[in-house]
Amino acid sequence: MPDPLPLQKTAGYDMQSKSVMREGKSMKIAFDIDGVVLNSIEVILEHINRVMGKNIVIDELVSWELEDLGVDFKTLWAAVDYMYHQPRVEPYHGALETLTKIHQETGEPLLFITGRRDPETALRQLRALDWNGHMPEIIVTGGTRDKRTYLLDNAVDFIIEDDVRHFRDYIEAGVGVGLMVRPWNRKASVPVTRRFEGWHDLWEWVREVKSLDG
Ligand SMILES: [Mg+2]
Repeated sequence: MPDPLPLQKTAGYDMQSKSVMREGKSMKIAFDIDGVVLNSIEVILEHINRVMGKNIVIDELVSWELEDLGVDFKTLWAAVDYMYHQPRVEPYHGALETLTKIHQETGEPLLFITGRRDPETALRQLRALDWNGHMPEIIVTGGTRDKRTYLLDNAVDFIIEDDVRHFRDYIEAGVGVGLMVRPWNRKASVPVTRRFEGWHDLWEWVREVKSLDG
């Protein structure tokens, strides 16, 4: 994690000089899953609090590095593994609605890139969500926290992500980064292409860049 310095103004960040990003309808967007679509951190924290007798709340997090809050690596990974095995993890407000609209308006499969070592666990949890009879075509890939390989292999132009660790790398690789603002990244000082305060905000942006009707 970068130092938790105050957020820099990022609107003026000169991304265009390095980016070969397509614009308009053909812009290919990928979505991270944990912390963006699924409220996985809540499941992880509940497990940690239960086994350690702690009371860590999400708003206390200033980074993804829970070791800073006195959680040892073993406990953390046991909690993450516990989350991976859940049949269902709650989505964030507006996530399914927006993803469904994007899928319906573009007619394209939804592409998710996860840092999970076993992307299959994430695919299973996405399929278990209540899509209200409109389950979109879902592609899940990934396997490492640094997603550059998957971004380039899939010709992604823009990723929606909550983990700021590799933002600079992605931008340097010509991929735009949309930060889904969460408690653990709100103070991170990294270059971002666009910040999103939630899924409705994200929908307004997608609708604009892809010229959708919705
Ligand atoms: Mg994430």
